[in-house]
This record gives sequence, C-alpha cells and structure tokens, in this order.
Amino acid sequence: MRLIRFCKGDAPAQLGLLMADRAVALSELIAEAPTDARDAIARWSELAPQLESAEAEGKGVPLAHVRLLCPLDATEKMMAIGLNYADHIAEMSGSGMTTPTEQIWFSKQANALSGPFDPIEAPRSSDAVDYEVELVAIIGKGGRHITAAEAPAHVFGFCVGNDVSARDWQMKTPQWVLGKSFDTHGPIGPAIVTLDEVGDPHALDIKCFVNGDLRQDSNTRHLVFNVWAQIEELSKVMTLKPGDVIFTGTPGGVGMASKPPRYLKPGDVVRCEIDELGAIENTVLAEG
Ligand code: ZN
Repeated sequence: MRLIRFCKGDAPAQLGLLMADRAVALSELIAEAPTDARDAIARWSELAPQLESAEAEGKGVPLAHVRLLCPLDATEKMMAIGLNYADHIAEMSGSGMTTPTEQIWFSKQANALSGPFDPIEAPRSSDAVDYEVELVAIIGKGGRHITAAEAPAHVFGFCVGNDVSARDWQMKTPQWVLGKSFDTHGPIGPAIVTLDEVGDPHALDIKCFVNGDLRQDSNTRHLVFNVWAQIEELSKVMTLKPGDVIFTGTPGGVGMASKPPRYLKPGDVVRCEIDELGAIENTVLAEG
C-alpha cells in the first residue's frame, strides 16, 4: 500500500492511500480511521487487513485534483548516513573523504521535513545549496537493539528523499548538522510505500535530475552499509519509533563534486526518483 497525505483546495489535510491514480482518504475506507500518520504507522498491523478488504470502488478523488503533502505530518527524529555509496566516496576524495569503516551518522533536524512538491528554500546565508537523492526508510515497529536480521520487521516502508545540503555550512565545521538542517531541506514522498510492496529495497534504480539534466544515476545495491545494518547500528544507541525517518545515503553526482561545483539556484527544478517509489519534484525558491 501507499500511504499519503493530501489536501483538496482549502480543505484540511487528509491521510489516505494512493490507489492507481486516485487519492482515497482512510476515513472513506474504514471506521475510526487515524488522522495522524505516525498513529497509522504504529497501528498498521491492525489497520492493514481492514484497509486491504475495504471496498475502494468509486471512492477518492483523481490525483490531479489534489496536492500531495509530506506523508508524515511530523517526526521525532530524522537520521542520515554520510559517504555510503562507493561512487560518491570517490568523487568526495578531493575533500579528504575515504571509504568509512564505521557508519557516519548525522541528524537532519525535524524542521527540515518537507513535502514531495514543496519548494526548497535557497537560504540568504548560503551560496552552496546542493541535492542528494536518497532512499528513505520509515520505521514501523519501534525498538532498541534490533539486529540486521530483525530489521525488515521494523521497517514500515520506503519513500524518495532529497537530503538537501548547504555545503558551505556543512563544511565550515566538523559537524554537519546545521548544513543539513535548513527549513525545507528534507523533502520526502510522494507516498510511503509499504515494504511488502517494495520487495527488495537493495535493488532499486535511483536518479536525480536538475532541470531535466540527469545528475545522479545509480542503484541501491551499491550501498556500502545496507538499510538493515544501518538500523542495527542506530538502534544500539536510540529507541527507534514509528515514523522515524532514515536517509540511507546518496550516490555520486552531487553538485559539489562537479568541477566547477554546480549548486542549485532559484528557479531550478530538482526531480528525485526511485524504482517502485515514484518521484518527488521540488523547485528552488529564494528565501523571502
Ligand atoms: Zn545524504
């Protein structure tokens, strides 16, 4: 299934499913439907059978008539791993970066979370805004000390993400968190596709286009540390909770690695797409 949040005109946001080319509110399908995405994810084992057997014929509205919102209205935490594709490590070697033997984690603060078609802010204080297409995992069943073997049972699903990065802020100190946490710099979507529908998350083509120009082109099989290993590592430290967001690394082709660098500017359109998950598309807008 494909969990979405959407709104039609000025109506309040609704939680729903993307079914073919229609957005169907959960409340149209089942009684006492949750209205909060994290609540739905936490209750998914109870909700899924009801949703699967619900009669959807004639329900919902055409996708073209709604605006898709960030599939999560909020999250407790958003973690991201650095230098996790071999081709990306190679292109960053000029910045002194080598293949890590340990997973390199940083936090994107929750304020960065943004919708699949919302603008990316080009902040007043940065001249080096860059894109990073990433496979994003959304935690389902929470837990601590989850082994890699147990990890699939803790993943609700996957979506496309852009780990937008202000490189000047990222590189001016050893800590990356500020450069990764500007408002709007964490768009995800268009839907959270449940794991059963994704199949193998480590066999998906992953691409990023800027104004139609293909910049990143890889496959998730090239992850250095796969998603299950990432969950094992993170959960040694923190209790993972339903709706937590994990950015799993970006392949080569980022703007910073171009010679000269090719950073984003207002008006640019960044499209990130992954097999089975769809695409998000965000326009860069100067901060007002
Ligand atoms: Zn990243």
